[in-house]
Amino acid sequence: MRTINRPTDTAGDVFTECISLVRNPGLRRRLNDVKNLVIQASDELDQKVTKGNLHTIVRETIINGNVTAKELENVYTTRMVPKSSPGRKIYDKIKISAPLGICPLCAHREVKTIDHYLPKTKYPRLAVAPLNLLPACTDCNDIKDVFYPTKASEEFIHPYYDDVEDDLWLYARIEQTVPATVQFYVNPPDNWSELLKERVKYHFEKLNLNALYSVQAAVELNNINYGLSEIFASSGANGVEEHLLKQSQSRSQANINSWQTAMYAAMSSDNWFCNGGFQLRDI
Ligand SMILES: [Zn+2]
Repeated sequence: MRTINRPTDTAGDVFTECISLVRNPGLRRRLNDVKNLVIQASDELDQKVTKGNLHTIVRETIINGNVTAKELENVYTTRMVPKSSPGRKIYDKIKISAPLGICPLCAHREVKTIDHYLPKTKYPRLAVAPLNLLPACTDCNDIKDVFYPTKASEEFIHPYYDDVEDDLWLYARIEQTVPATVQFYVNPPDNWSELLKERVKYHFEKLNLNALYSVQAAVELNNINYGLSEIFASSGANGVEEHLLKQSQSRSQANINSWQTAMYAAMSSDNWFCNGGFQLRDI
């Protein structure tokens, strides 16, 4: 859950650009006639996001009485996504806006696509609205699919609006298995609103982030095992703890809520782990 800069292109300008090459006069006129409704939908998203009001946005199948949801979805799929389409430069601009090319939704996988924060099938007026378009990995995009909030607590964290980077909320715990396993969980600080606490938990669970991070942690454990064994042999459990704590602090400088920071913090504070629990097999 990373925060990224909001796009500066407006919904009206992007919509105008996308429909600029529509040849069919009837379709062109009908699409032009919904431009203000597209702008209004983007404004409504802007006003309701993070306040727990997104579920009050009406889902539509026909707009202005004569434009179908499918026709507005097509503005995205045929006039913004294809390489030579008029909206493609805006698509690309949004796609590369995530720092290090990392998906802001899972904070781990590589950005490969654009995700509609609110699905275009349910909210067709937001099909090409920049505030509704997020750089994302294909897994997050696939999992989110057509989910839409039915209540305030079901709003995913929005990378353009929510900032959960300064407070520690992601933790891990070590399970005494052989090899050790790492489980991740959300524990938001007390000063957050109840709504933000619920939304971060919802986001974490819905996108299966514990499963994603646990797998990464298992790989990491394999990679560091040799080094930990060396430290344990020369400096014992205290040496292992000290080493892991330093590693945690270093990762924390980059992102206090990365799975790596949480994993190293959990390992360093777990006596069983530092005392040989890190071994990949019984010895
Ligand atoms: Zn992702």
